[in-house]
Amino acid sequence: MNSAALVEASGLVKHFGARRRLFGGGVAPPVRAVDGVDLAIRRGETLGLVGESGCGKSTVGRLLVRLLEPSAGSIRFDGHALDALDGEALRRLRRRFQIVFQDPVGSFNPRMRVGDIVGEPLRHLGVARSERRDRAREALLRVGLAAEHALRYPHQFSGGQRQRIGIARALVVQPEFLVCDEPVSALDVSIQAQIVNLLMDLRRDLGLTLLFISHDLRVVRHVADRVAVMYLGRIVEIADKATLFRAPAHPYTRALLAAVPSARRIGRHTRIGLVGEIPSASAPPSGCRFRTRCPLAEPRCATDTPALLPVAPAHETACHLVPKVDET
Ligand code: SF4
Repeated sequence: MNSAALVEASGLVKHFGARRRLFGGGVAPPVRAVDGVDLAIRRGETLGLVGESGCGKSTVGRLLVRLLEPSAGSIRFDGHALDALDGEALRRLRRRFQIVFQDPVGSFNPRMRVGDIVGEPLRHLGVARSERRDRAREALLRVGLAAEHALRYPHQFSGGQRQRIGIARALVVQPEFLVCDEPVSALDVSIQAQIVNLLMDLRRDLGLTLLFISHDLRVVRHVADRVAVMYLGRIVEIADKATLFRAPAHPYTRALLAAVPSARRIGRHTRIGLVGEIPSASAPPSGCRFRTRCPLAEPRCATDTPALLPVAPAHETACHLVPKVDET
């Protein structure tokens, strides 16, 4: 266990089961959404997790808060083996980690008042109704809404306000760790900045540890301390934010950065274009999973899987071509 880590995943795997095909018969192979992820999130930091849609980053977020059961691997939260807990022990620990979704409305009951929606996690913890009401109103105030909003219904709010309600519901149990899964992707750009700034203020004021999942590198650059880049179920690069944007090592990271106008000027090595679609997670390429889109691919990339190894202090990448450093 990394002593500085609040959350630590080791060898994390999530395969969604084989399914019978509708047409043509046969059985489709399992979707290997997460396929061997090691990740440590330090207490008090914001780790950005980036990658294209379908790379498995949201599945990682759901695994870390045990909304999904891993197919293999282990997760530790503040030293507790999360995957080994159930019943009352899991319920007690669950209070300490929460998730904010891209579309909170999907998890709101439209017939419930906002105060009851925000206070619902407390009901599961056996908190009395009057205390639930008070704490829900406090949480609404903390996210910039008004106490009287507790009496309204979700449809009476704008998209940005609904996301604030989603954040209030996550905060009401006073968690230490928050997974933010594309929390601003569905919002207008002007509203995005407000929600991002709110999350950063909450992180500072409440001492939160965040996993910030996004496909948008500009947002991640604004919020993260460190950044992990994911491709087809695996982490391919991880570094502190300044290093990742200034000197990205993995060809996939370089390609992602080259597509961001404001980042293109920062990185010196970002002249790789990203072509084609991400392959199916049901049949990932052999060897390096990025090889079918990598302009630098060599024959060994089809047979040898590159390990995530240090290329500089606190900077790891998984590419055969990047010189490694010996940390021993
Ligand atoms: Fe490209 Fe090969 Fe490096 Fe993979 S290991 S990123 S295919 S050069």
